[in-house]
Amino acid sequence: MPEALKERSQIEEQYKWDLTRMYADDAAWEKALGDVDADMVFDSVKDGKGEDVEVTGSNYILLQSSDDRTLRENSFRSFYKGYRQHINTFGATYSANVKAAVVEAKARHYESSRAMSMAGENIPASVYDNLVETVRKHLPAMYRYVALRKKILGVDELHYYDVYAPLVSESSATYTYPQAQQMVLDAVAPLGEEYVNQVKKAYADRWIDVFPNRGKSGGAYSSGTYDSDPYIMTNFTGTLDSVSTIAHEMGHSMHSWYTRQHQPAQYSNYTLFVAEVASTVNENLMIEQLLKKEQEPQARLRLLNQYLENFKGTVYRQTMFAEFEREAHAMAERGEALNPAALNALYRRLIVDYFGPELVVDDEVQYEWARIPHFYRPFYVYKYATGYSTAVALSEAILSEGEPAVKRYLEFLSMGGSVYPLDELRHAGVDLTTPAPVDAALCKFERILDDAEATLARMQNA
Ligand SMILES: [Zn+2]
Repeated sequence: MPEALKERSQIEEQYKWDLTRMYADDAAWEKALGDVDADMVFDSVKDGKGEDVEVTGSNYILLQSSDDRTLRENSFRSFYKGYRQHINTFGATYSANVKAAVVEAKARHYESSRAMSMAGENIPASVYDNLVETVRKHLPAMYRYVALRKKILGVDELHYYDVYAPLVSESSATYTYPQAQQMVLDAVAPLGEEYVNQVKKAYADRWIDVFPNRGKSGGAYSSGTYDSDPYIMTNFTGTLDSVSTIAHEMGHSMHSWYTRQHQPAQYSNYTLFVAEVASTVNENLMIEQLLKKEQEPQARLRLLNQYLENFKGTVYRQTMFAEFEREAHAMAERGEALNPAALNALYRRLIVDYFGPELVVDDEVQYEWARIPHFYRPFYVYKYATGYSTAVALSEAILSEGEPAVKRYLEFLSMGGSVYPLDELRHAGVDLTTPAPVDAALCKFERILDDAEATLARMQNA
């Protein structure tokens, strides 16, 4: 896979591009991100071998995922130096965005900018507050994961530039496309014959544009119209990640397919609130299926690590972002100044809370809020965390309960936009007005963590 393509797909994974492509109003967000990329220039840095490496907005996550710690540290310092130099501009831009939302909410007689954002999908504030409270209750599990990370990396101090470092060397295993197709079929087998047969039909009817090609865009997404098949664009390279992407996009496509089979055109789009549920259920079913078979400790730890990283990036990190937004908007509503000093201090406090005592918090960390484009679309990131938690609760129920849970789940997939998201999820068996689903998902996180710790102990004893 060409390096540029690899970078692009990693960035897109980071920002969940496949989801955002479905919504036209994201054009402004994408443009803002593009403009930042164009304007920001970062100092080049040395890697561990003393060679020069360029730092850009688009390769930053790739550099942070390197196993070269010198490169990680140097690129971290260079990257946030760039943001620090423009922090007043970012502060003014973000503050204007928050104030605009606050003023609009007042003009439209909403209780708050948050209530305005959540009204469209009819989600009560308690869902948001429940999420934050429940994730906070499970922060000790995150601290355990940070400690495990420190132990595996074998470092004296764990810094923020160590949080994306790979814990296990990348697998050299590759899969052919026919193997990948079979792996996806095995993963979704618990969803029953109808689902499996429809996935087979999707392959036969060529729903998927599979391989990278000249002029083809990077990343992956699922698309289509009411009276067409749902089509998938992906860039399959044979890695396990590529296989998992097919399972993910097939989740979107099958959600669309079920909806279009059962709903008239006006209800054929599901809401953003539930958009990542079906894709994540499929991804989780795939990891569970692979874990069931994999006993070799190194390979098992790699799978468990991927699972843990999904929780870290989707539940913990997005909830931390959700807290940041909730507080920033509340400050503006109270008439407090949203200057960079206040935003930096707020962000730093959250990092300390979420990562716990084992993380050494460098000064650079406080500027991270300035590089998160999602904040320009207020009160949206919490849906990643509720969506992921919901998917964990559903995949657990599908695997443990079988038939009745599958039936409820397929009915949920068939509802599209005909009922409000909380109601359709309640039908599927997940009630987000209570803390139970997020609590159950994070208990699952703790069990995966137990497994990872035990697997590591087995490796060290071997
Ligand atoms: Zn997706």
